[in-house]
Formats: sequence, structure tokens, C-alpha cells
Amino acid sequence: MSRAGAGGHQARKRFGQNFLQDPGIIHRIVEAIKPAPTDLMVEIGPGQGAITEQLVDAVGELAVVELDRDLIPNLRISFATRTNFHVYAGDALKFDYQRILRDLNRDRMRIVGNLPYNISTPLLFHLVAFHPWIQDMHFMLQKEVVERLAAGVGDNAYGRLGIMVQYHCQVEPLFMVPPEAFRPAPRVDSAMVRLRPHAKPPVSTRDVTQLNRIVTLAFSQRRKTVRNAVKSAVNESILEQAGIAPDLRPEQITLAQYARLADLTLPAPLPANQKEE
Ligand code: SAM
Repeated sequence: MSRAGAGGHQARKRFGQNFLQDPGIIHRIVEAIKPAPTDLMVEIGPGQGAITEQLVDAVGELAVVELDRDLIPNLRISFATRTNFHVYAGDALKFDYQRILRDLNRDRMRIVGNLPYNISTPLLFHLVAFHPWIQDMHFMLQKEVVERLAAGVGDNAYGRLGIMVQYHCQVEPLFMVPPEAFRPAPRVDSAMVRLRPHAKPPVSTRDVTQLNRIVTLAFSQRRKTVRNAVKSAVNESILEQAGIAPDLRPEQITLAQYARLADLTLPAPLPANQKEE
């Protein structure tokens, strides 16, 4: 099959368009995804269909979310004969992924995407909110973003993105992809990563939003000690109660410690007989 729109479309920088052109890499991506006939697969940013055309006949349903309206007519034409192919024109950053489940009467989906690098971090934060309905996610990202996702405590790349994604998902870096695999070639190296939402988070916390707030605050000043980084919201004795030495740097603190700190900085829950007005 010919690529949707191949030849006619000028890649747009503002949409982060770097189209995959290396058949060997596309094959490796599909091998890593292992599409199955029972799958509902959601592809973010199908572009000219490089991955799409390898998935459409291998899965039960394939839904794509594409922002660039100029690419959509060609996608519709290329896959016109496939009744399992569904196009959603919209912004993946604002998209309600449960809509696809409702439309197709499913309860879980798999997600894939060679993501536009300029929006990958906010998109990952948006997607993890849908974790109960996601079986797994396979993404092509800038190599450094994969390093941040997989970083452990003490690593240079350890920070808010890795901590919050690891709270929701198991992170598995897969393989590197060089710039020449894309047209136009990006200026950075890329890597594939697999994210699998945990059945149960690795640590418990009463409020994930508070965990995110605390981690954001700590890493907004990552070169400072944690005492100074969070002092606008947390005093030293609370840090100590959370088992955190105030002289540590934000990157030396584990997810479990951040989760304890988040719980200690929440207002205490009211007893059952004393509900708020
Ligand atoms: N999947 C294709 C491939 O591998 O060749 C295209 C990948 S290209 C890196 C990123 C794709 O995401 C483009 O098709 C672009 O138009 C689309 N895109 C960019 N921003 C988007 C957004 N906010 N929501 C949905 N799609 C977006």
C-alpha cells in the first residue's frame, strides 16, 4: 500500500512531524508492540501512516488521533476499505481517550505513537490519567526523555517526569533509533519505550495530585537541598517525619519518601461523623 499522503505533504515543524521512513525500524516497532486480533489499538499522530499500515490488519480495531487536518483526507483514502479503522481529528493533549472506548464499546485499549517531541512530556502526563483503561503504551520519544522516564533515584535524569510516570507505570526502554530513520531527520537521537500501567501503584499515597505538587516543587529547584526547595510549603520537621534528611538533594529522594511527604502535607481527613459543610 502507498503511504497516506506520501510525496504531497510538506512536513510541519510546529506539529513535530518527523515521518518514519526506515522499513527495518518500522518492523522492529511492530515486533515490540506485538499487535493481536483482539486489540483495540489507539495510535497518536499517525501522520502518513508508516506504523498505521502495519497495524491495521493485525488488530481488531485501530483508532487514530491526528491534529494536522491536512493529513486526514489521505488517511481516510488509504484505509477506506478497512472497517476497523477510525479517525479522530483532534489534539492528543486534550483528547478524552475514554470516548474511543465508548464509541467502540470496549473497556481497555493499547496506545502507540511516534510522538511529536515538542509535546511528549505534557502528553505523557495527560495519558497517565487514563491508566485504568490502558493495557500498555509504546512510544517513540527523544532518547533523553526515555532516560528521564526510566531514571532511578540518584541518576542525573531522575525527576518529576520519571517519578510520576513510574508511580503509574512500569517503564521499559526498548531500543535506540537514529535520526536517519526519519524524514526530515530530527537533530536528536530517539528511543522506543514500553509503559505498562501497574495493577496497583508501587507505593501508596492518599492523593496523587498532592504527590505531583510536592515533586514539582522539589524539582523546581533541583540544585538546592530539599529543605530549601520545598520550604514554601513544608517545614523541616515534616521532612524528618517523612524520613527525609533535609540536606539531601531532590534527586536523592525515593518515590516512597515523596509519597510519605505528600500524605504528611495533606490536611488530616475529617472523622466520619464530622463532614465538611
Ligand atoms: N506516526 C507517523 C510516523 O511515524 O511517521 C508520524 C509521526 S510524527 C513524529 C508526529 C505526528 O503527530 C504527526 O502526524 C503530527 O501531525 C501529529 N501531531 C502533532 N501534534 C499532535 C497533537 N497535539 N495531537 C495529535 N497529533 C499530533
